[in-house]
Amino acid sequence: MNSNLLADNPRPPVAARALRTKAELRAAVAHARREGQTIGLVPTMGYLHEGHLSLIHAARAECDLVVMSLFVNPTQFGAGEDLDRYPRDEERDLRLAGEAGADLVFAPAVEEVYPDGPKGTATYVEVTGELTSVLDGASRGTGHFRGVTTVVAKLFNLVAPDVAYFGQKDAQQAVVIRRMVRDLDFPVRIEVMPTVREPDGLAMSSRNAYLGDEDRQRATALSRALQAAERGAREGALGIGLEAARRELAAAGIEPEYLEARDADTLEPVHALEGRPVLVLVAAQVGQARLIDNVLIQPANA
Ligand code: AMP
Repeated sequence: MNSNLLADNPRPPVAARALRTKAELRAAVAHARREGQTIGLVPTMGYLHEGHLSLIHAARAECDLVVMSLFVNPTQFGAGEDLDRYPRDEERDLRLAGEAGADLVFAPAVEEVYPDGPKGTATYVEVTGELTSVLDGASRGTGHFRGVTTVVAKLFNLVAPDVAYFGQKDAQQAVVIRRMVRDLDFPVRIEVMPTVREPDGLAMSSRNAYLGDEDRQRATALSRALQAAERGAREGALGIGLEAARRELAAAGIEPEYLEARDADTLEPVHALEGRPVLVLVAAQVGQARLIDNVLIQPANA
């Protein structure tokens, strides 16, 4: 057989199997475990794009069984946020997930995940302190990350994955999940994959679907601003970089919710690079979409 063909088309293009109940999910992963298979988990809220698919590809390359979850988690949305209009297309998601290499897609109804209703839950998993109170925790309220960690902890309990895959696009979320895993001794390795971007730099996001043509164009200022921040920080100083970033945003008429430099591990504010990985993170409302993006500035000699 032509080995190139095999490499380009590792699997037949079939839709992944959708599982609706926790019982079905537990049975499927228990079977795989008995067979000695390793399990990879890719949590998503669906409306898949290349960013999600990069996580599935990474899982496919490392794990025997690849489980993607597709669940728009109500507990991580604040009042007045976009829960009701969050874009959804399950049929397309199942096809794309299958083509990318997912074996199973856990796509439960809200009542299956929260039998007492999203507000009836009595038990939450919450990473407290700075990690969840700054940046998106400040903008969206601390309930946001509590919702994220609660649903991810539930998924870890249901799937017991060997590895779980997250995107650097949601940098704060990745830091918070790593902390939860460390504090609660979840036996899972967390892999954080690079942000996948459109050709013009815009970070891929399901929420980009909210952007009209003009706002879609303006939104490219976010990634330009982050590039300017990195360039300015490397060539001059972090403060100079942040100023340059602010100017890029202003030129596009964008007032950021936050534009900050923080230690990549602790999320403590930083004022200089000083040889450690630094994140510059931005959030902004652009038209109908609240967008976030970030750049990880590694020390020059790393
Ligand atoms: P979401 O469906 O937006 O909750 O995202 C599900 C997972 O995909 C999260 O771990 C995200 O960080 C990751 N993700 C979202 N957008 C991107 C992107 N552009 N590049 C890489 N990963 C992403």
